[in-house]
Amino acid sequence: MDKMKNATILDGKATAVKVREEVAACTAKLAEHGVQPGLAVVLVGDDPASHVYVRNKDRAANGAGFDVRTVRLAADTSQQDLEAEVRKLAVDDKVHGILVQLPLPKHLDSTPVIESIPPAKDVDGLTLASVGALALNQPGMRPCTPAGCIELLDRAGISIEGKHVVIVGRSMLVGKPIANLLLARNATVTICHSRTKDLKGHCLQADILVAAVGVPQLVKGDWLSADCTVLDVGINRTDEGKLVGDVDFDAASQVVSAITPVPGGIGPMTIAMLLVNTFFGAAQSAGLSPKELGWKP
Ligand code: NDP
Repeated sequence: MDKMKNATILDGKATAVKVREEVAACTAKLAEHGVQPGLAVVLVGDDPASHVYVRNKDRAANGAGFDVRTVRLAADTSQQDLEAEVRKLAVDDKVHGILVQLPLPKHLDSTPVIESIPPAKDVDGLTLASVGALALNQPGMRPCTPAGCIELLDRAGISIEGKHVVIVGRSMLVGKPIANLLLARNATVTICHSRTKDLKGHCLQADILVAAVGVPQLVKGDWLSADCTVLDVGINRTDEGKLVGDVDFDAASQVVSAITPVPGGIGPMTIAMLLVNTFFGAAQSAGLSPKELGWKP
């Protein structure tokens, strides 16, 4: 990890490369058992950001030796047709992971589409079964972005137990699942949102701050303490076309102990965890444990 200004920069890009290499090595071992992890990505419509995300996921999964299938559907696809496509993938033995790229066009309801994914193939961890398993601390697929945050902390040697983690954002995709993952690791968790009073005061209490808001540079340098580790999940494009996070990186990195950059922080870790989940699903379908295939972490 680089030392820049005062803060350690938590290099999600480099860490994700390492995770992906480990998945690729285990995938090669799985191939000896005649199984290739299969990932199906369902993309509806032509949202440019979704196309970029899907391309990056395709590339990473191909690089790890996966069989990747992208199902591209027109923007005016009906609810019925979309659910039928997902159900086809659900019964396809060669597919171990199904991801429906969100958001869907406005006329579509994502809930029944997601529920068409069997929990064992729910690599995004968004079905009711996966959400319930996480809440009950039972085995199951964990959502990739929160899992990527934890993986990055672990690999950077930053302990979680007993720490006060302040999460800004309470979405089903990031805020809530990361709260549960952190509780399972014995953190003390505070969740903030748009109605929270004295957000700055809460942030100043954080040993670890997770920003998942979607408001460019909302969290200022003087909202953070010197010992804080900052995980900036936000990806926002400015009017000038620059990508920035939910934290004012330049100011925060002068103050805190460690921080993730945007881009190059949580984003690459999210994709790496998608590969991990798909690999786990493929191993399970072959009746093998990841450990038997050389998975160490
Ligand atoms: P959502 O819009 O679903 O949720 C945003 C949350 O932030 C809500 O809980 C909302 O509160 C809260 N919030 C909004 N404004 C404020 C404010 N001024 N003060 C305090 N809280 C506020 O977003 P997501 O969780 O899906 O995504 C958050 C960010 O993370 C986005 O920038 C997104 O692009 C990025 N992202 C990045 C990923 C990655 O791979 N790195 C993956 C997923 C998302 P309330 O509930 O009260 O409305």
